[in-house]
Amino acid sequence: MRRVYFDNNATTPVAPEVFEAMRPYFVEQYGNASSIHWFGQQARAAVETAREQVACLVNARTNEIAFTSGGTESDNAAIFGVVEAARSETKHVVATAIEHHAVLHTCQALEKRGVRVTYVRVGSSGVVDPADIERAIRPETALITVMHANNEIGTLQPLEEIGRIARDHDVAFHSDAVQSVGKIPVDVEKFGLDLLSLSAHKLNGPKGAGALYIRKGTILKPLMYGGHHERDRRPGTENVAGIVGLGKAAELARAHRADDAGRVAALRDRLEAGMLEGVPLSSVAGDRARRLPTTTNISFDYIEGEGFVIAMDLRGIACSTGAACSSGSVEPSHVLTAVGRTPAQARSSIRFSLGRFSTQEEVDYALAIIPAVAEQLRSVSPHYKRREVGVRS
Ligand SMILES: *Cc1c(COP(=O)(O)O)cnc(C)c1O
Repeated sequence: MRRVYFDNNATTPVAPEVFEAMRPYFVEQYGNASSIHWFGQQARAAVETAREQVACLVNARTNEIAFTSGGTESDNAAIFGVVEAARSETKHVVATAIEHHAVLHTCQALEKRGVRVTYVRVGSSGVVDPADIERAIRPETALITVMHANNEIGTLQPLEEIGRIARDHDVAFHSDAVQSVGKIPVDVEKFGLDLLSLSAHKLNGPKGAGALYIRKGTILKPLMYGGHHERDRRPGTENVAGIVGLGKAAELARAHRADDAGRVAALRDRLEAGMLEGVPLSSVAGDRARRLPTTTNISFDYIEGEGFVIAMDLRGIACSTGAACSSGSVEPSHVLTAVGRTPAQARSSIRFSLGRFSTQEEVDYALAIIPAVAEQLRSVSPHYKRREVGVRS
């Protein structure tokens, strides 16, 4: 069966060049980057090259990049790290209501330890108002954490404005930029960031590798204790092959980002327009302009999202109901409810996320199938039938 992958916000395929770059570090240059012999030196050189490649992608200095196991660890390390290192008696964090669970659940864990957290709301645009962030700041605020691109609806947050506010109030500023790095320009200087999380597998790199940008002078308590790796910021033998893959993926993203973004945005727009036209009672969540080029989140009223995803999968097309980590949960997505979707609409929402390898042919293939799938699911929906009766009477 033909397979089409429209779930790139969950994970992306490893680019062939990335895989080739990683291969030697499994079988030939398998040294421990801390060893002093030839094998170790080969590994160390590869890790440092990757550090330069990652730093370059986000306009950081190389010694401000610490490698981690991925986005979740980077988020935890940044948030716990800053809050635990803060000296004030009471501690406060400002986050948004639409953060990824790697940030939200970390904040909730801090709340159990007595830290106060303000979850700033976003309107139906899915874009936070910087003035609301500023209003949430208190004298004891230790950290502001605002994601760059939302993983469910793709909306972009005004980091530059928030960065200025953080600077004015002398509060550390972290961003989960896992969904934006490699897809759109990300610049830690321009955004005024002290900390930034990124993950290799969201930018055509391998799973299990990521990085945390830590501005020079930012004080963090480490999450784990062990060796002196990564300048005492993250102990443990480096995942050399994974780090090499992240570095190569960063280099490729930098080279291709501008071309990819325009091409993928056009494909996403074609898919979105085709669905809005081909499926009655459909609507897109969040601001359609201030958004990643890759993502659309569309609600097909009277259709149960899980059922739609399964019906599409049977026809070879992979899409999702939202965050991969919340699939299977019955709770409607916190992001969709935050942007004012009703619980019913949230449960009827489907995310299509395109990537570097998506093609127009794939989009057209999906568009040839989606209206029929939607119609078929509605034809067996008692709610939809009742609605029709309601309209007629
Ligand atoms: C995928 C994702 C994460 C988690 O990254 P992992 O590398 O899978 O741990 C965190 N934040 C956002 C916005 C994501 O999309």
